[in-house]
Amino acid sequence: MTVWLDPVRTALDAVPDPVVWYFRDDDAGWAEGRLTSLLDLFAVHHAPIDLAVIPIALSDGLVQQLRHRIEMEGQPIGLHQHGYAHRNHETEGRKCEFGPQRSLRQQYQDIEAGRNLLQSAFGSNLQPTFTPPWNRCTQTTVDVLLQLGFKALSRDSGASSLETGQLTDVPVHVDWFGKFRLDRAGFSLLGERIAAVIGQSPAVGVMLHHERMDTGELGRLAELLGLLTQHRSVRLVLMQKWLP
Ligand SMILES: [Zn+2]
Repeated sequence: MTVWLDPVRTALDAVPDPVVWYFRDDDAGWAEGRLTSLLDLFAVHHAPIDLAVIPIALSDGLVQQLRHRIEMEGQPIGLHQHGYAHRNHETEGRKCEFGPQRSLRQQYQDIEAGRNLLQSAFGSNLQPTFTPPWNRCTQTTVDVLLQLGFKALSRDSGASSLETGQLTDVPVHVDWFGKFRLDRAGFSLLGERIAAVIGQSPAVGVMLHHERMDTGELGRLAELLGLLTQHRSVRLVLMQKWLP
């Protein structure tokens, strides 16, 4: 029942060089039960996964679970910061936690406070990467990230361009729940979207939202992981591969 993956398989069979592949799951801190199910799935497939963690949503139980998986079980999990509170501060237009309504000082305070929370929870397991909620931020955010010593920024590959300077861009190319699916059953459209990226980019980043992953979604993700872990032209990595 993996017809939906046929375009992905065909595209991978055709690439001249291996494709570097990573998964970024957002909103860690919310829906812990579903996050646990997702992490169990990646563990079964020995596949790496990066988590964008909402600092103030983090519970002690989740900290313990993540540290146990990484430090005791050796599960390849990358941890980095996903905003501060995942709160929209814009009064009009698209949702944004670090948008034009926020001054440099406000952004600095939030990002620094979030960074400190995550550092005290995860220590050296925390990566110096920042994913802004809704994949949106401003040039001011970039300035703050550089001042605070961040090394990488992860947004959507189609996000508006910013002067990122010393920050490395580690974009995601496919939203698992993208509107292109049209409805929840649109897995053939998802397969086509992933296949299209394989032909255009040397790396493929897939964005997940565990809170929306029910058993049906997890089943399809398991099928994709089954293909990726077996295919000779795929290198599954953590996003930290791009850090200096
Ligand atoms: Zn988010």
